[in-house]
Amino acid sequence: MTANPSSPLVVAIDGPAGAGKSTVAARIAARFGLLNLESGAMYRAFALKAIQTDSDLDNREELGRLAERTRIRLMPAPLGNRVFLDDVEVTKRIREPDVTAAASRVSVHPAIRQWMVSMQRQLGASSGIVMEGRDIGTKVFPDAQVKIFLDAAAEVRGQRRYQQNGPDAVPAEAVLEQLRERDRRDRTRAESPLQPASDAVIIDSTDLSLEQVVARVEAIVSERLAASH
Ligand code: C5P
Repeated sequence: MTANPSSPLVVAIDGPAGAGKSTVAARIAARFGLLNLESGAMYRAFALKAIQTDSDLDNREELGRLAERTRIRLMPAPLGNRVFLDDVEVTKRIREPDVTAAASRVSVHPAIRQWMVSMQRQLGASSGIVMEGRDIGTKVFPDAQVKIFLDAAAEVRGQRRYQQNGPDAVPAEAVLEQLRERDRRDRTRAESPLQPASDAVIIDSTDLSLEQVVARVEAIVSERLAASH
């Protein structure tokens, strides 16, 4: 992690699904006046386009061509990002289970990742940001001043996700199963697998409350800001 006072502050928050990244990122962005950008929402939007066009999720050439006629936009809002696919708002739709599963499949393709990384770098070029995802500290912003890797036991992450979804949605065992499957794909893909950057601060939130995690990350950001002034 470097502290260059001339470049805008970048806080990278990576980790597996259900570790609490989105909530922590939103709180840190609000606290330090940074733009909050969810990189996963971009993979989700592209996955939705692939579903809508009946594309083969495992066919890299087909998906590469599809990307050329796809426009994805994130609009930071107080409760996370609003997401637009080809100028149509898809904020809610991209959180549904079919899109969640498809996002983890389209994200293994190197050409799709390169396209996403270049869009994500542009988003962070002009102002201070918190960006959360899987490869922000390792690939998108390897020079980020703050890198956090937020982890937690799979059972705890599954339980949190189940509670977020509400009891009428998918049963708890199925939520955990889907989460493990996504973890496996994210951690074992050849291109930018999910792993902590060598200079990331690893926070295991298994036994921590949200408030405790936020307080730790706030302290790290404050320390970096003080060091760069
Ligand atoms: O973070 P979220 O659960 O919305 O991400 C959806 C999927 O997008 C992840 O399971 C992962 O496969 C992919 N993703 C990624 N790299 C990122 C963000 C998300 O591969 N930076």
